[in-house]
Amino acid sequence: MAQAVKRLFPAVRVAIGPSIEDGFYYDFAKAEPFAPEDLAKIEEVMHEIAKANYPFERQEMSREEAIRFFRERNEPFKVEILEGIDAARVSLYRQGDFIDLCRGPHVPATGHVKHFKLLSSSGAYWRGDERNPMLQRIYGTAWLTKEELDKHLWRLEEAKKRDHRKLGRELDLYAFHDVSPGAPFWLPNGWTLVRELERFVREVLDARGYQEISTPILVNQKLWEQSGHWEHYRENMFLVESEEQVFSLKPMNCPESTLVYRHALRSYRDLPLRFADMGRLHRNERSGTLTGLMRVRQFTQDDAHIYCRWDQIQDEITALLGLVREWYKTFVLDPFFKLSTRPAKSLGTDEQWQAAEGALQDALRANGLAFELNPGDGTFYGPKIDVDVQDALGRRWQVATIQVDFQQPERFGLEYIASDGQAKRPVMIHRAIFGSFERFVGVLVEHYAGAFPTWLAPVQARVLPISEKHIDYARAVHARLRAARIRAELDDRNEKLGYRIRDAQVRKVPYMLVVGAREAENGTVSLRHRTGDDLGAVALDRVLGDLAREIGSRDASLAVGRS
Ligand code: ZN
Repeated sequence: MAQAVKRLFPAVRVAIGPSIEDGFYYDFAKAEPFAPEDLAKIEEVMHEIAKANYPFERQEMSREEAIRFFRERNEPFKVEILEGIDAARVSLYRQGDFIDLCRGPHVPATGHVKHFKLLSSSGAYWRGDERNPMLQRIYGTAWLTKEELDKHLWRLEEAKKRDHRKLGRELDLYAFHDVSPGAPFWLPNGWTLVRELERFVREVLDARGYQEISTPILVNQKLWEQSGHWEHYRENMFLVESEEQVFSLKPMNCPESTLVYRHALRSYRDLPLRFADMGRLHRNERSGTLTGLMRVRQFTQDDAHIYCRWDQIQDEITALLGLVREWYKTFVLDPFFKLSTRPAKSLGTDEQWQAAEGALQDALRANGLAFELNPGDGTFYGPKIDVDVQDALGRRWQVATIQVDFQQPERFGLEYIASDGQAKRPVMIHRAIFGSFERFVGVLVEHYAGAFPTWLAPVQARVLPISEKHIDYARAVHARLRAARIRAELDDRNEKLGYRIRDAQVRKVPYMLVVGAREAENGTVSLRHRTGDDLGAVALDRVLGDLAREIGSRDASLAVGRS
């Protein structure tokens, strides 16, 4: 690409062009931005260069030689890069009339590069620093086969269509207003999603020995001093003054959860204690970095803190990993596990770290889970397991985190009475499975492209009378659905049936119950699915039973009329 750009625009200076996930970019010093027509021309020349099949020739120089070489060619950015490199010798690669600084390796010749596409261009500061000159960056993607390239381009297109900000507007899920940056205004449809997810969380946790608590949002500075947040995290906290005291909107639930632990004298027999707290949190992210539901200032974690003895860590982690796998099956999302170990700067003893890291590894193995190891990437207070999920487009999102913590119990003087009557420190495990409800809703909207499984769908069924003559029966059907606690709407607008069916499909309503004279007479409905499937005449009682079963099981494979 850089060769093509230099051929078309000889005055352009080349800066830096690394490979990135799924492609590459290159930054150029050019007065005018690249126009879309420019990208098309560059791509054409790239194909010519590929056809010419120039061999890539590696050449080594001393750093000084290379600096002279690029200075003569008037490439100041290459000179600057070289001046910052701590190496005696560097490598360059030549292809036809173009030569560039590169570590390599390369394919043998340009003819090997066949399946590529330039995607976009945008301004980018040299070295990402706004005090530096603005360069023009071109992004592209390259693949081994045409099929892979086409699939990638399809994924990019699909990701644009599924953008949760766009779908959030189209499906009336949430809105954003300047008066509260980074905090969603949940509309009825979107809040239904959150409520269903909360219900899911509570059902799962109730069955696993968790106890839910709720702690204040506004908390005195004193607590944050004790937890260490005042010292290390204050710039991310929103402060509020009242009666000459400073309070903060809580950025996390952990310190307050320790007050609940300390509420009673705890014995070794009481442990583990599992306190769930779905508290609303605020973190002061810079307003320029906020995007939709993915980066917010106000959010709600599906948070919980587990207090246990050292000998219980492994069992608790093992159970948590099992929980994560079960949990994400419901959403048809595949989890991937990453273990992060002791960082250079950390608190706690060698024995504590070894024991905790060992417990996490053993728990991963006990669950038969493959995992990625990130040495040194743990928190300063303990090791952790992070979980990514892969969505329908193959994109990964980090969601869950499981962190072992020896520090907060120390700071807050937490104790339990051991079997020998001695006071001992428990360990604290922080864990969230969705991460935050806000971000997870964003992930789900894109994963399902707004077509939620019936249990989550804000509207689960719509009743469509064929004409106004059938309105009484339609009302009766609607009332039966509501009585069965199915989220149903009656669409008796004075519009053609075809129009109303399309409208329900656009709104991604799973089921349409079309009713006319025949249905009224037989106590049936004409059932249609949003995918366009016509499921025919079905007795209303059976529809009610099947729908309740599909919703109650949260299992999309039990879809009505397909069993
Ligand atoms: Zn926590």
